[in-house]
Amino acid sequence: MSVEIVRDLRGLQSSIARHRNGPLNTAASLAIVPTMGSIHEAHEKLVIEAKRNADIVLATIFVNPMQFGPNEDFNKYPKSEEEDIKRLTSVGCNIIYIPTLESVYPEGFDLAINIPKLSSVLCGKKRPNHFEGVSTIVAKLLLQSGADYAVFGEKDYQQLLIIKSLVKNLDIPCHILPIETIRDENGLAISSRNQYLNVKNKSIANNINIIMKSAVDDYKNKDIKSTITFVENSFLSSGIENIDYIEIRDNNNLNAINNNDKSNARLFIAIYINDTRLIDNIML
Ligand code: AMP
Repeated sequence: MSVEIVRDLRGLQSSIARHRNGPLNTAASLAIVPTMGSIHEAHEKLVIEAKRNADIVLATIFVNPMQFGPNEDFNKYPKSEEEDIKRLTSVGCNIIYIPTLESVYPEGFDLAINIPKLSSVLCGKKRPNHFEGVSTIVAKLLLQSGADYAVFGEKDYQQLLIIKSLVKNLDIPCHILPIETIRDENGLAISSRNQYLNVKNKSIANNINIIMKSAVDDYKNKDIKSTITFVENSFLSSGIENIDYIEIRDNNNLNAINNNDKSNARLFIAIYINDTRLIDNIML
C-alpha cells in the first residue's frame, strides 16, 4: 500500500483501520512519530526506529501553536510540506497525518494538560506553558491514533520524560521508544532551527558538543558547581554569550543532585546564538 496523506480525524482513523486490517491481515501494530515538519535526518531515524518496532508507521506534521510563546518563532517556523512527504515516504512511513487546526483544536476546545514538576524546570522556566502545549498535543495524537508505540528523541530530553509521565499518569496504552540525539558531522544536534544559523553562527554552534563532551571528563574530578562554571566559561570564550541555563540534574526525574551522590546525572544547556535558541544534553 502506498503512503496515505490524511488531514482530518475521520481520514486518520479510517486509514489506520484500513492498514490494521489490510494486507497484513493480523492485529497489526502501529507506531506514531510526532513532528513539527521541516523533516531532517533525525526525524528519519525516528521513523526507522518506529518501523523496527511496529508493522505500520504513522508520522504527523503539525506546528502546534499551543506550545509557542507570544514572542517565539511560530510564524516563521520553517515549512516544507512537499519535501517532508517525500522524505517520510522514502524511509517507509505508511500514513502521514497533517491535521488542520480544527482537527486538533475544534471550536470550544478547552483543555491544557499540566505535568507540573517536570515542566517547571529547565526549558519550562523561560517558556511557561510550553510543556502544557506539548503534553496536550501529544495526548491528543496518541488518543486520536490509538498507537501502540510512539518514538521521541533524547535531544528534547525534558520533553521525553514529560511524555513518559503523561502516558503513565493517564494510563495511555502506548509504549514510548526513545532514540539518542542525532548529530551532524560537527557534533551539533540536528534541529529544524539550525537553518536559522548563518555560516559564522554555525561555526560558533559547533563548539557546543565539544564543550559538553569536555564537561563529561571535568565532572569526574570536580564538584557540580565547578563543572557548571567550566561549561559557562568555555561557552563564553567560544563566542556563546547568551546563556539561558546550564544545569546538572537527575537523569530519571530532573531532580537537583548534590556532590554526595553525583551519579546518574545529565548536563542540560540552552543557549541563544543571535535569536536562535539551541538546546542540548549529555549524560555525565
Ligand atoms: P520536532 O519536529 O523538532 O518537534 O521533533 C520531532 C521529534 O524529533 C521529537 O521527538 C524530537 O525529540 C525528535 N528530534 C528532533 N531532532 C532530533 C535530534 N537531533 N536527535 C534526536 N531526535 C530529534
